[in-house]
Order: sequence, then structure tokens, then C-alpha cells
Amino acid sequence: MPRSTFIPLRQFASDNYSGICPEAWAAMDEANRGHARAYGEDPWTRKATHLIRKIFDTNCEVFFVFNGTAANSLALASACQPFHSVICHEYAHVNTDECGAPGFFAHGGTLATVKGSNGKLRPADIEQACLARSDIHAHRPGAVTITQATELGTVYSPAEIKAIRRKADQWNLTFHMDGARFANAVASLGIAPSLLSWKAGVDVLSLGGTKNGMAMGEALIFFNRKFATDFGHRCKQGGQLASKMRFIAAQWIGLLEDGAWLRHATHANRIAQLLERKLRSIHGLRIAFPRQANAVFVDMPPVLVKRLRHKGWRFYTDVGPGPARLMCSWDSTGEDVDAFVHDIKSALR
Ligand SMILES: *Cc1c(COP(=O)(O)O)cnc(C)c1O
Repeated sequence: MPRSTFIPLRQFASDNYSGICPEAWAAMDEANRGHARAYGEDPWTRKATHLIRKIFDTNCEVFFVFNGTAANSLALASACQPFHSVICHEYAHVNTDECGAPGFFAHGGTLATVKGSNGKLRPADIEQACLARSDIHAHRPGAVTITQATELGTVYSPAEIKAIRRKADQWNLTFHMDGARFANAVASLGIAPSLLSWKAGVDVLSLGGTKNGMAMGEALIFFNRKFATDFGHRCKQGGQLASKMRFIAAQWIGLLEDGAWLRHATHANRIAQLLERKLRSIHGLRIAFPRQANAVFVDMPPVLVKRLRHKGWRFYTDVGPGPARLMCSWDSTGEDVDAFVHDIKSALR
């Protein structure tokens, strides 16, 4: 592949612009020394499952799938009947970026979106969504899903998650968490993964591997094991049963075995913090949401966005309400931040 195929600078467009982290790469190489049983009947899948149970400190059910859209959609389908709705934030990935997959896999289920500042759902908003309709002619709320860290780069505290659990109990809702960036949330708060998941009342977690440094692969973790009944068949039917599953599982071993997942997430968060600090010192820019993980959202004048794009920088301006989103990854560096900030300053002159 010619060098020119690659984007010359590391970008802040998304944490999935990054490559594969060395730990995941080495683990895949180690799994590539010969033949092994297929469809998850291999020692890597067993070991990755064991590591996830250890890290979350509970005997959960674990499934490995290719991507986050499948993890979220299949989990919600498992938690819901076709006449159920899933309460989510209006900017939730399940609502804005999954092409209706949750409703597709739930065979008629739908999403009930609510607003909320900084990308977060609040118990009162969930209550409102539950009260909106109680007649026989509308979908009935069957689940609630929150994103940790959120699509706007903020992080739910354990107390906030527990409050959502209490509301979910009141309305008999299954509680799902989209953890595409769960590692960044854990790194941000510096607390045990269990405190942000099952101990706070989460039933099912989509745990992201791709944005954390894997080539592909997410783990679906059922803390409430009843939703895992026959889930293997749901995965297979949904096209998500990897026949060479060991190459997804091995990457998880690489990330989890010696803590690389949290090292990488901590690093991405720190670079985002550095970027935020430098942007705050530039007149004319405004940080749009509290930076609590690896995303910095910044209001920029449109002419600046245009000039930066002209210089070759890529970033999204259509996530949430649309400030520029700058996303840091496991391999972002201080030099990347300096180069970007340098180009902002020269574009503003
Ligand atoms: C990236 C992402 C996902 C997963 O997306 P896929 O492209 O399907 O892997 C899920 N939720 C959130 C919040 C994301 O940012």
C-alpha cells in the first residue's frame, strides 16, 4: 500500500481513525501460530471472558461481536419485546448513527428520545418519557440506554447512574449502557469498572474495544444473565458470530491482561485535557461541554473550520448540536496538539 494512502498527520476526527495498539497487535500475532477451534470454542475466547469477569469482579455472561452497532442493537433486542420503546438521549449513537438497527433487530421496537444537557439523561426526563403515553396504541417503554462516556464527551458519575436505575425500577425498564468509550469513563473517574456498571444497576453493557485500540471487536456483557438466554443464536442470526473468534478475543487479552485498556484511555484523556487547555487560551474559541473524557467540543467561527479543513485537518461538525468535535485516541501526541493549535493560530491571524 503506498504511503499516500495514509493520512499524513494524526487527526482529531475520531478515535477510530487510529491504528491497532501494539498490545492488541502482539496478541493477534500470538494467536496466529497455527490452527485452533472456531466459533469461540478456543482458549483465547475462554481467557478473554475470564479476564472480563475478573475486571468487573462478577460472573457475567460475555459475547464478542464485530462492532458497536451490533452490540447495542442485539442487546436491546434481547431486552425488549417488539412493542417496546427504548428511552435514549436525542444525541445517543443508537438514535443518530445506527441506521435504525435497534428497531430492525427488535422487530418493530422503537426509540423514544429525550433531551438533556451535556448529552446526559436525567431521571426526570425518563419519567416524562414514561408518562407521555400509557394507552394501548403506543409503544410501551421497555428499556433505557445511556452512553458512558457520552457522545458529548461527558461522564456519568456512579450516583447519576444509580438514580437512573431507581427510575428504571419504578417503570420496569431494562438498563443498557453503550460503553463504546467506557474505558475513557473509567480512566476519567479513576474507580473500579464495577462501580460504573453492575454495582450502579446496569443490566447490560456494550464494552468498546475498537476505539480503545483494537482493529475491531466489542464485548457484550450481561450482568443480568436472564437477557443472555439463547443470545448466541441471536448473534449468529444477526451475522455477528465470528468464526475465527480468537482474533477478536486475543485483542481483548492484549488490552486487558496488563491494563493497557486503561493506560490507553488515560493517555487519550490526558491529550484531550492538553488540547482543551491550549484551546481555552485562544481568543474567539469556546469550549462547548465539560471535557471529562477524550473529546473536546469547541465552538469555532465557520471561517476557521474552513481554513483548518483546507490545511488538511479532519474533524466532525455534525455530532450533537454541532460544535467542532476533536477526539483524541491512544496514539495522539502532544506534537499533534501543537501542530493543530499552531494551524489555528496562523489561520486566525
Ligand atoms: C463508535 C460508537 C459506537 C460503535 O459504532 P460502530 O461503528 O458500530 O462500531 C457505539 N456508540 C458510540 C457512542 C460510539 O461512539
